[in-house]
Amino acid sequence: MSARQYTDQLQKLDTPFYFYDMQLLADTLAKAVAEAGKYGYKVHYALKANFDPRIVAAIRKAGLGVDCVSGNEVRLAIESGCLASEIVFAGVAKSDKEIRYALGQDIFSFNCESLQELEVINALAAETGRTARIALRINPDVDPRTHKHISTGQADSKFGISYTEINEAIRSLNRLPNIRIVGIHFHIGSQITDMEVFGNFCVKVNKIQQWFVEQGIELKHLNLGGGLGVGYNDPDGKPIPDFAGYFGIVNRTLETKPGQTVHFELGRSLVAQSGELVTRVLYTKQNAAGRQIALVDAGMTDLIRPALYQAHHKIESLTGQGPLQPYMVAGPVCESSDVFAKEALLPEVKRGDLLTIRTAGAYGSAMASRYNLRDLPRSVYSDEL
Ligand SMILES: *Cc1c(COP(=O)(O)O)cnc(C)c1O
Repeated sequence: MSARQYTDQLQKLDTPFYFYDMQLLADTLAKAVAEAGKYGYKVHYALKANFDPRIVAAIRKAGLGVDCVSGNEVRLAIESGCLASEIVFAGVAKSDKEIRYALGQDIFSFNCESLQELEVINALAAETGRTARIALRINPDVDPRTHKHISTGQADSKFGISYTEINEAIRSLNRLPNIRIVGIHFHIGSQITDMEVFGNFCVKVNKIQQWFVEQGIELKHLNLGGGLGVGYNDPDGKPIPDFAGYFGIVNRTLETKPGQTVHFELGRSLVAQSGELVTRVLYTKQNAAGRQIALVDAGMTDLIRPALYQAHHKIESLTGQGPLQPYMVAGPVCESSDVFAKEALLPEVKRGDLLTIRTAGAYGSAMASRYNLRDLPRSVYSDEL
């Protein structure tokens, strides 16, 4: 149920806030777990997409593992009751303090992103006589055909160990007794909607795995990262992403070895459609170019994706009626990039109307800031209304 079904209740609340459809969230998680389960795949939730406590509780209840990219995320996962044995820790630059904490929790695996990081984890593990399980994050040089700011797997990227350095990484493992390689890890980018990209990616993983086999290295785990995209243009058309198609193409293309486990780190696809940012119209006006502008009480501090990635979110009116007309929908922050849409089609907008910005459950509240000393956005849950 989208926010529209709750307009009467929502109208009484202070805005802006994130509205979460807890039923859609539960259905989405169940579907992802069921489709992955068909092939014995393990899904880890990329906590950075949304760390709202009720969302984290739903993730734990659905039986997902967790993918963390900071020590604080590892801590939150542990304190929320997630199993350390199902936590993977990626992150292009992990601090010593973060590594020590994760070692102390005996997490499942560190996804290592540089030769130097291998040395550092080895040294820190040796301090307490531990052996850390690691996966090499390999940059496979795949073009994910998505926005450049959310591409991570191309040759000219800060992420991962370059395929030109794998040889050296393998040689160094032999002289680092306090780390043990258990797998290889990839994450090529985000908001990938073209399934062929995942097919091509798996072909590349097969080649890389073959190379490890030739070196006599057995990989217990293959971690393909995340990146499955969602439909920002039509949130009601397909509220649950195509998990069947996604895991299906991996199953058809990826060549796994006997006893090998395949892991995924999904963020956006698990939570994006369950969240909406509900905001109230403060003012309307027309600029000199003749454009109608709706100024709302949510801003880029609540949802930065449009400003940061030129991301498109569908905007709807919860209270207006009549024929649709184009509006610039903009926030109150003193930045000209604080615009949610240049031409949202809305019924006539008046002061006091409630608008909802759809598909905002991922990388929305998690990226909120207090710039301009604004309040952080609150959360409202469908099952508490
Ligand atoms: C952000 C991230 C993910 C999740 O990406 P989505 O596109 O949200 O699925 C997975 N793995 C790593 C290492 C990440 O940094």
